[in-house]
Amino acid sequence: MKESIQNVRVENSFANLPPSFYTRLSPQPLTEPRLLHANPEVAALLDLSPAALAKPDFLDVVAGNQPLPGGQTLAAVYSGHQFGIWAGQLGDGRAHLLGEVVSPSGRWELQLKGSGRTPYSRMGDGRAVLRSSVREYLASEAMAGLGIATTRALALVVSNDPVYRETVETAAIVTRVSPSFVRFGSFEHWSSSPENLGALLDYVVDRHYPECRDAVDGAPATQARVALRFLRAVTVRTARLLADWQTAGFCHGVMNTDNMSILGLTLDYGPYGFMDAFQVDHVCNHSDSQGRYAWNAQPSVANWNLYRLASALLGLGVEADALKEQLQEFEPAFLQAYRNNLCRKLGLLAWTDGDDDLLDDWWRLLHTQKADFTLSFRSLAQAPLDSAQFFQRFHDRDAAGAWLDRYVQRLAQEQRPDPERIEQMNRSNPLYVLRNHLAEGAIRAAAQGDVGEIDTLLKLLRDPYTEQPGHEAYAAVPPEWAGRLEVSCSS
Ligand code: AMP
Ligand code: MG
Repeated sequence: MKESIQNVRVENSFANLPPSFYTRLSPQPLTEPRLLHANPEVAALLDLSPAALAKPDFLDVVAGNQPLPGGQTLAAVYSGHQFGIWAGQLGDGRAHLLGEVVSPSGRWELQLKGSGRTPYSRMGDGRAVLRSSVREYLASEAMAGLGIATTRALALVVSNDPVYRETVETAAIVTRVSPSFVRFGSFEHWSSSPENLGALLDYVVDRHYPECRDAVDGAPATQARVALRFLRAVTVRTARLLADWQTAGFCHGVMNTDNMSILGLTLDYGPYGFMDAFQVDHVCNHSDSQGRYAWNAQPSVANWNLYRLASALLGLGVEADALKEQLQEFEPAFLQAYRNNLCRKLGLLAWTDGDDDLLDDWWRLLHTQKADFTLSFRSLAQAPLDSAQFFQRFHDRDAAGAWLDRYVQRLAQEQRPDPERIEQMNRSNPLYVLRNHLAEGAIRAAAQGDVGEIDTLLKLLRDPYTEQPGHEAYAAVPPEWAGRLEVSCSS
């Protein structure tokens, strides 16, 4: 592994796109930036040793004071639909792409978020506050720990520079790491510019979806064919991502098309939430007064967003009906992944006809009893042998007992040995999730310069399935004050 960030291999493939795709510029320095936290797991992906993270030249790069050696720093342009409405040009209003690290594990773009104004900042200040930066840092690692596709976080830099939101807060920069930060909105941006749209398609397909170029009957695939296959592949990846969100009780909060990764990764952590008490129409974003991005709306919103991506591809002259046909893949891909996930969470070997009813009634039970999403699922493994933990989750014991009887009967059909079933279920139903109040505790400590909570949470969330003695409080339902926490678009 490289002992210094000076020694990583860097390329700049995004910068090789036409100049209209971005603006080259430097980040705006923070005053006396400090490295609050660095992530050796993500560093390892970059072939960077833990020792490299402690060197001053690492801080210089992740604080935006020095370019990534060999990198070309830029802010990318994109557009998007926000809350269902065309918002026109957006872009990296507070993010800088530093370049692309080429390592044995792959190619990873490094991007600073909160690193100052760009031509795409509109009215914004180009900054991110400590609160939202800690939330992004923790969430990306929590999702990775759950095995859910996500961008990653390498470093968290803080400063005392004031940032004005509802109150005065302080500035922070997160270094995000991803194979690509291209969004649905990047394609939407070029929908009436076939040349640029084609360039973007070529760029993304060559690097991330090369199979879309496979020859048809010995002849090279036409651009239209590539575009259709690409749309289908993005549709399937997005559907699988949504299945993973739903079955983890994760709400993204701002599923605008500019926050939808073209690689099907969870991208742009803002007012996200892991549900505590289950409500099918739970809305985690306090700014989302219409509930557009409620938990039960997420899959259909993703589908709607894919229609926006498909509309952008019309700009290449691809037939509308053919594009629509690719989008039909969404529902079966989603349902297959969703049922697969739930099969594992319920400890079933295969999904059978009656299981949809059993599941519907499970959701209904959780909803009517406001049962804790994570702990209810976790309690299922033991429930057939010892139902004490299970019943703790529900105040209406009769309703819970009636459902449990049916579940036990269903398990009996498979005659699976209990130890095997329990072991597998405990690897599918996490004990620890990044509940809002846990993130809040880490934020409050971090504001005092104490990273102990971040360390503890990362340790638990990297392996959220394994019980860690002494950490019972992290696996408990939230305390009463957590109900008063409000998370909004302000970040
Ligand atoms: P978001 O809702 O965070 O995904 O942001 C939507 C758009 O607003 C993106 O183009 C962001 O880059 C931009 N943006 C958000 N916050 C700021 C800020 N403080 N300064 C400049 N641009 C911002
Ligand atoms: Mg965004």
